Amino acid sequence: MKIAIVGAGIVGVTTAYELASDGHEVTVFEQRSAAAEEASFAPAGLLAPHLLSPWAAPGFGHPLRLTGANATLRLAGGMGRANLAWLWRWRSAARQQNAAAGALERLAQYSLARLKTIATQHELDFEASDGRLILLRSEPERQALQPALQVLRDCGVKALDIDADAARKIEPGLSPEATLAGAIHLPEAWAGNCRLFAQLLRQGTQGSGVHFAFGTRVERIGSSPTGVAVQGEAELRRFDAVVLCAGMASAELLPNLGVPLPMTAVYGYSVSAPLRESTHAPRASVVDLAQQISITRLGQRVRIAGGAELSGSDAAHHAPTLQRLYRTLNDWFPGGAQLSSGLQIWRGARTMLPDGAPIVGASGLPGLWLNTGHGAGGWALACGSARAVADLVAQREPEIPLDGLGMRRF
Ligand SMILES: Cc1cc2nc3c(=O)[nH]c(=O)nc-3n(C[C@H](O)[C@H](O)[C@H](O)COP(=O)(O)OP(=O)(O)OC[C@H]3O[C@@H](n4cnc5c(N)ncnc54)[C@H](O)[C@@H]3O)c2cc1C
Repeated sequence: MKIAIVGAGIVGVTTAYELASDGHEVTVFEQRSAAAEEASFAPAGLLAPHLLSPWAAPGFGHPLRLTGANATLRLAGGMGRANLAWLWRWRSAARQQNAAAGALERLAQYSLARLKTIATQHELDFEASDGRLILLRSEPERQALQPALQVLRDCGVKALDIDADAARKIEPGLSPEATLAGAIHLPEAWAGNCRLFAQLLRQGTQGSGVHFAFGTRVERIGSSPTGVAVQGEAELRRFDAVVLCAGMASAELLPNLGVPLPMTAVYGYSVSAPLRESTHAPRASVVDLAQQISITRLGQRVRIAGGAELSGSDAAHHAPTLQRLYRTLNDWFPGGAQLSSGLQIWRGARTMLPDGAPIVGASGLPGLWLNTGHGAGGWALACGSARAVADLVAQREPEIPLDGLGMRRF
């Protein structure tokens, strides 16, 4: 088939890879000049397990607090009614302990397995590391994690409750002064550089039936006939199928289905800093649960990521949030990274649906498929959701059930 993909973030690139592997002729339309320039540019890098990652799903991890010094979500200027509607739904999903959580974690596990296969097959070196600690500052934090741990264990994920000494043996760079009540050790967790993986995979798809049309903005998606209208062109370009992977732009590009996609952008930050002293830096990835901040080793750099704000896309960087990232890094790994120069500071959007899970599958319109709304887990979920969409397009049963990940749930 002749298939168009809109968007060359991590989700679009992996979808292109899978569809081309099935023998389709694929064109990826991307408005920017390269792959992974928007949300996939500098995420923390956490792969599965997903549920204990910051902002993975409502009702797991840390409680949502909107006010005070310990607010976990900042409501800034430039918010609209859609933001508030989303917030309302996220909070009710949190109270119901989110029915989509199991489906989300199973997709993340499947995705990691698929990613490992692709990386091995094409010898992709994407600064991967394995193992993760969820750092706990107090006993109540451990208690708050129990529902998430139950879902993880039900999904067959190994999650070990360990004390502070054992945690320090796994991550010897952890500051001896930091208050540490213990940790959850996820020995099978992976992390890696999302943008690097996307770029390597894009290069790998060259000559295999994928054409990347960079600097090409899609204005409209057509169904009957199926195709895309590109900026500056009067005629619809015709395709047998279109897969929408346009991140935050997906809702506005989707033809009217009668149900608007209840998406919002939850903005966050990452700071990537050159390694200063390897023995004082993390060996793999850690998550500070109370702060909803992760620290990841990516080759010769350390990346700290966190913060959550509902605001306009062009809002200025929020200095107190960035200060909190630096402070958290210094609390856990003092001296591990060089913070005086060579920093990459990034603000990006998590394209979130109210239950934290993406939409993977049919749109309800002939020829139009959705692979979007991956929230805080686009990197962790991309390879699995791409394979599942490719199977659906080929009218094959995907290898994992997609219950709870379809359009119908809205
Ligand atoms: C601070 C932070 C930390 C994060 N940490 C993690 C993590 O540890 N693990 C994890 O799994 N996820 C993480 N995420 C989430 C992850 O970054 C996203 O889920 C993921 O990058 C989304 O990928 P995507 O391909 O859907 O979107 P994008 O990367 O945004 O790609 C969409 C693409 O579509 C293009 N596009 C849009 N409109 C058009 C148009 N009209 N025509 C042509 N092209 C168009 C855009 O230019 C863009 O390139 C984090 C996010 C943030 C903000």
